Amino acid sequence: MQAFVYTSYPGRVVFGAGRLQSLAEEVERLGARRALVLSTPEQRDTAARVAEALGDRAAGIDDRAAMHVPIEIAVAARERAQALGADCCVAVGGGSTIGLGKAIALTSGLPIVAVPTTFAGSEMTAIWGLTENGEKKTGRDSAVLPRTVIYDPAMVRSLPAAVAAVSGMNAIAHCVEALYAVDANPIVSMIAEEGIRALAESLPVIVGDGTGLVQADDDALARAQYGAWLAGTALNGASMALHHKLCHTLGGSFDLPHAPTHTVVLPYATAYNRDAAPLAMRRIESALGAFGRGDAAAGLLALAQALHAPTTLAAIGMPQEGIARAAEIAARNQYPNPRPIERAAIEALLTRAWHGSAP
Ligand code: NAD
Repeated sequence: MQAFVYTSYPGRVVFGAGRLQSLAEEVERLGARRALVLSTPEQRDTAARVAEALGDRAAGIDDRAAMHVPIEIAVAARERAQALGADCCVAVGGGSTIGLGKAIALTSGLPIVAVPTTFAGSEMTAIWGLTENGEKKTGRDSAVLPRTVIYDPAMVRSLPAAVAAVSGMNAIAHCVEALYAVDANPIVSMIAEEGIRALAESLPVIVGDGTGLVQADDDALARAQYGAWLAGTALNGASMALHHKLCHTLGGSFDLPHAPTHTVVLPYATAYNRDAAPLAMRRIESALGAFGRGDAAAGLLALAQALHAPTTLAAIGMPQEGIARAAEIAARNQYPNPRPIERAAIEALLTRAWHGSAP
């Protein structure tokens, strides 16, 4: 067996139908008495229900969470937490809301209880992100890792099927890259493979025909949440490579939406690494089950199609004339990836992804 390094991170997970009811107890367990509930403006009603469940342990609601955590919002929320005398944050939402909790924790150290409502997996990572003057900075700090995570399928029932699909593919991307990471190790690989399996099984059931809200029983929703948990753990436990860097470039320079970009790029980034990471490819194929089809990249595209998710960069607003610039930016810095980052090959990858050609 090859030598490796594995770091385990602390965290408590409270999982299953009805578990949101233990939120007040979980806040108390952290020794906190005044929780600031965080949400996006769209999820204000959900935040209000959560605050109500917290009773006198709720210090207030801040519903300003927004994609990629703009620094002005983070600073304002931090000041609000301080003004309210909050000693903990309860982040109810997806990666954007949990990201706001992390931005508060980064400088204040306030513990976070996360109640995820998407499958992005941010609740399981010590990775923070902040956007200042149009540029997103990310970093790792153990202070931002949520102390407690409550996964309750009731919290994803209101998710539009189309959002569930791309959010789930975003989670699968964490697992795929963990499997061929420069610092991959058997523990994180096992978690990543199981994450893909749980998501590939459950997402088609809960997404249905891709319209309306998610449609499934608690069991399927919980299985997708379990997959998201594992995906976040994989993201936290291994370095990300070409796929995440490319998505970061496309999101930052062309303002493409986060989860749909991950969904479109994933089959093509996987194909780029196909010959350089054969073991990882076999594990992805196997975890994709019926979608595997003997090729990991083709299997990921088949899954995205089955989820009625976008599968071309053109469909999510990428200008065709921006491809060369995106390849240039992506190839500017070398970073660990199974196959070296070559500008011309990245441009070819993006061109195929723009058209939705076979990966
Ligand atoms: P999101 O949090 O931006 O949510 C997308 C939209 O869906 C929002 O309007 C939100 O209010 C709504 N929504 C969320 N859950 C809902 C529900 N159950 N019912 C109805 N509406 C709901 O989306 P996301 O994909 O979860 O997060 C994306 C962000 O998270 C990006 O900024 C990304 O960079 C970040 N992220 C960070 C990490 C990390 O480890 N730091 C990991 C993954 C993603």
